[in-house]
Amino acid sequence: MRKLLIVGNWKMHLNASQASLLVHRLSERIKIHRDIEVVLAPSMLALQPLSLQIDRRKFRLASQNAYFHDEGAYTGEVSFTMLRELVHYGIIGHSERRHIFDEDLNMVRDKMAAAIRNEITPILCVGETKHERQDGETKQVLHDQLMTALSNLTAHEVGKIVIAYEPIWAIGQVAAKPDQVKDAVAYTRGYIADVFNDSAAKKVRVLYGGDVAPEVIHGLLAVPGVDGFLIGRASLNYQTFADIVEAAHRWQRNHETSKEGE
Ligand code: PEP
Repeated sequence: MRKLLIVGNWKMHLNASQASLLVHRLSERIKIHRDIEVVLAPSMLALQPLSLQIDRRKFRLASQNAYFHDEGAYTGEVSFTMLRELVHYGIIGHSERRHIFDEDLNMVRDKMAAAIRNEITPILCVGETKHERQDGETKQVLHDQLMTALSNLTAHEVGKIVIAYEPIWAIGQVAAKPDQVKDAVAYTRGYIADVFNDSAAKKVRVLYGGDVAPEVIHGLLAVPGVDGFLIGRASLNYQTFADIVEAAHRWQRNHETSKEGE
């Protein structure tokens, strides 16, 4: 059975007590499903209290970012080393970090190494802008982002990471069409098969992110190679996020049943 991964990125929203309330509301609505892993990425500030609050059978935590050095004179930064007892996952290279905070390809590569060094599973975000898509450069952009980010990793390490395909034109705008996601996911797995090996390409989990809502879940889960979602805005609404988890679980159940009948 394929286990789906659903990650809520709360971005720069909710102070620690608001975050705690949201977790409480989510706990009331989200059941424990063996076939779905639900991950919450609150602000840095909320990670410590939420790590004590969450029911670990239901939720895991992710950081939205962290610095690539383990410690030192880096005022204002938090390292993966500091997060290792708190989070399972670390989002790396989100397009908002790349574009607003000028994180370049090499910085993303160094953060990938830092996460792995600290036994935190990276959720590497990749994706093209609207102009890049219009100019037919989607695959080239994915190629460059994957090539640098994965350059220091072994095939074994790549097999354990998560990659989120997040076209920038879709984030907070309009979800990509299943065909567009299919091409990007196939390209990503194909790249990993070519550069690393088939086993890594099969094992790596690939998510889609960009305006995911309960209505689009089934269409996107039908895309071969999609293992779940990275969700921004909709993850801040407990009802919508719980609906997404339930919709994914229903899809899993129907899919398993139809496979058994084959
Ligand atoms: C995101 O921030 O990663 C994201 C996918 O946002 P949204 O779901 O709001 O498009």
